[in-house]
Amino acid sequence: MEECIFCNIIDKKIPAEFAYEDDDFFVIKDINPKAETHLLIIPKKHIFSVASLTDEDRKLTSDLIFLAKKMGDERKLSGYKLVFNVGREGGQMVDHMHLHLLSGKLISLP
Ligand code: 5GP
Ligand code: ZN
Repeated sequence: MEECIFCNIIDKKIPAEFAYEDDDFFVIKDINPKAETHLLIIPKKHIFSVASLTDEDRKLTSDLIFLAKKMGDERKLSGYKLVFNVGREGGQMVDHMHLHLLSGKLISLP
């Protein structure tokens, strides 16, 4: 997946500001934040989008949401938005599934 930005970030070929990393996931600050806090919660497995999830991804998808909650809890966020953009017409620009966590003053929705 040479051309995938997020796979290249996992491989440390493209720099990013990491907020969290484990065997299955990583969290980075969005390079072009749309809110005061704008994190991208990303599985290391290259899945194109929510639309390409299969049954075997059920646990991963649940863990992804629980990781978003952990990020919110750790930052003591009183509220936040979780956004999946799905497909070009859904606003998805990077074809590696990711969950946006947005909190604080919104600049715009991603
Ligand atoms: P999408 O539109 O696919 O849902 O969201 C992709 C997000 O990735 C955008 O909010 C964009 O700002 C962010 N992004 C794109 N390239 C990079 C990058 O190289 N580094 C980081 N940290 N974020 C990126
Ligand atoms: Zn990828």
